[in-house]
Amino acid sequence: MLDFCNNVPDNVKKIITEKCRVVNICIFITPSVNEDMMDALKNKICEQLKRASEIWCGCKIMFNIKSFRKLVEIVDYPSEYYFKAEDIISAERFRENSKANRLWDLKPCCSDRPHVNLYYIGGNKFQSGESGVGMWEDNSEGGRYFIAIAEGETITEVLAHELGHVLSLSHSSDERNIMYPRPPGSNVTDDQCRQINNPKRHLIQEEFCETKFVRIFPKIFEVEILNMKVYEVDDGADPEDDIEIRWDFHIENTGDGTIITKSWEHHQIEDDNPNIPYHIGVRAVFVVNKETDIIKLHISGVEFDTGHDDALPSTTRDFDKVNNWGTNFPSSIFLTNSEIECEMALKVTELPQEEQLIPGVCEGAIIRN
Ligand SMILES: [Zn+2]
Repeated sequence: MLDFCNNVPDNVKKIITEKCRVVNICIFITPSVNEDMMDALKNKICEQLKRASEIWCGCKIMFNIKSFRKLVEIVDYPSEYYFKAEDIISAERFRENSKANRLWDLKPCCSDRPHVNLYYIGGNKFQSGESGVGMWEDNSEGGRYFIAIAEGETITEVLAHELGHVLSLSHSSDERNIMYPRPPGSNVTDDQCRQINNPKRHLIQEEFCETKFVRIFPKIFEVEILNMKVYEVDDGADPEDDIEIRWDFHIENTGDGTIITKSWEHHQIEDDNPNIPYHIGVRAVFVVNKETDIIKLHISGVEFDTGHDDALPSTTRDFDKVNNWGTNFPSSIFLTNSEIECEMALKVTELPQEEQLIPGVCEGAIIRN
């Protein structure tokens, strides 16, 4: 959904620092739109959405595109909803037109919540000479919100203007204002923002905020090897000999494929070494770019002296947030094989990150389908 509109967010750069207010939009292309014109129409819609996002971001309004469909695809509403531009005569006479009236009442709902049905209708202009119609009606059931835009309309601000209407605004006499009729300007006033953010409006849904305001990725973890104890070394070598080991830590986020290797060389491991536990404070900091409560550690070692060929133990283990992270540590890992038995005490910590606003929340005005 909306793949064709990927360019929208990148071009809108305003930032909202307050709780967002969302308006759902369901876009429908009427069957009267020529199939050959579909790509051009999609581009046009993208431009209009982008412009609407830029403009209404100033009032902290975001648009959540719930669906983009051809009206003919709606099984329950067959050919009687085939529509031509001339089927809409004017905003004023809209309700007098039987076909238009059906479109007004049609609720091929993208959502149970209040939403705008936005129809792109074949043709360049309606008979009234208008290229867009925006109507709204708040009622006890949550209201009806309707926009029709002529497919051939080239004014980029027309959708933003019609959204202004369904957001309850009337026309402005200031030609710089977005609510100026022909052609719209681009300004919004504080009064207009106050009016459309009236908490009694059904259309604007504060609780329906799908946008995260805190950047949760990347998560940054620290793995610390607090100490290591060697209980048993039976490598068949002269007891005076040392085993020289390079331990490798492969740290990966489960399912993500992110692997960070931290190597640490360790010499003179013997079970009678008086210095055990030793080698405290080896750290690996790694980054996870997905939501997860489990990280996976793989720990293995290789002997790199030349005297013997010892098989060193290894382990792969999941660490989950509830039991193993942060203050619940240290947690021990036993590494055992026939020659070596040792224990590592690890601490896994999710490093705190400052809350960040996602840059340009309003650029996400096109949130998702
Ligand atoms: Zn208007």
